[in-house]
Amino acid sequence: MTEDMKPVHENDPMPFFCGPENMCFNECCKDLNQALTPYDILRLKRNLGLSSQDFLRTYTSRHSGPRSGLPVVGFKPNPATAHACPFVTEGGCFVYPDRPASCRMYPLARAIARSRETGEIQEYFALIAEDHCKGFGKNNGLTVRQWLDSQRVDLHNQYNDTLLELISLKNRMMPGKLPGYLSDQFYLALYDLDTFRTQIFEQDLLAQYGVPPSVFELIRTSDEALLELGLQWVRNQLFGLEMKLEA
Ligand code: SF4
Ligand code: SF4
Repeated sequence: MTEDMKPVHENDPMPFFCGPENMCFNECCKDLNQALTPYDILRLKRNLGLSSQDFLRTYTSRHSGPRSGLPVVGFKPNPATAHACPFVTEGGCFVYPDRPASCRMYPLARAIARSRETGEIQEYFALIAEDHCKGFGKNNGLTVRQWLDSQRVDLHNQYNDTLLELISLKNRMMPGKLPGYLSDQFYLALYDLDTFRTQIFEQDLLAQYGVPPSVFELIRTSDEALLELGLQWVRNQLFGLEMKLEA
């Protein structure tokens, strides 16, 4: 497979159209080696009506980054289907409204830089042209920004940017392999949200932090609030940073 990356600006035209009329329909959902982010898992398990524990056990495998020791979660390899995504059907994606960020972004690659002065994020994009994808060169009348908006990927990108900043902080402050117990805490609080919630409410996991009742109320039902709390808890466990606990 050849691959070509072409930088594009968000106001450039997006010469790409994906749909069932393309002869390559579903090709990009096969032969997968796809990492899933915490927010991807939150959306997928909710779409399927599963607990995070059941979703992770059924559909994913976990390994550790060889240098960082950080947990990496991806779809379970399945040679019987030539590593097709478990959610691809003849009609397309079974979990389309909650598909992962990488599925939404394809064929765009995105990189970010945060300004030290203002904290603002600058985004950079490139088109990845792969042989198997026949969607290129088809004008859809949209700019790159309009196409991105149509993919509803902003929230995924926000959570994923926060995760990347956490990983980058870990690599700066704790270079080398994360000890196994910290890797387990990272996995618990970010990937296995329902078990994290159970441990908070049934085992007093956050007893020492003086969590206000309003935050407890929020995380009882909101997966997003629980993920945000999980990101703070991991920062606290890894770097000793104080948790900001506001509902
Ligand atoms: S989640 Fe949907 S879009 Fe993504 S690889 Fe699977 S079937 Fe394809
Ligand atoms: S290979 Fe490209 S055009 Fe074909 S279905 Fe996948 S993203 Fe769409």
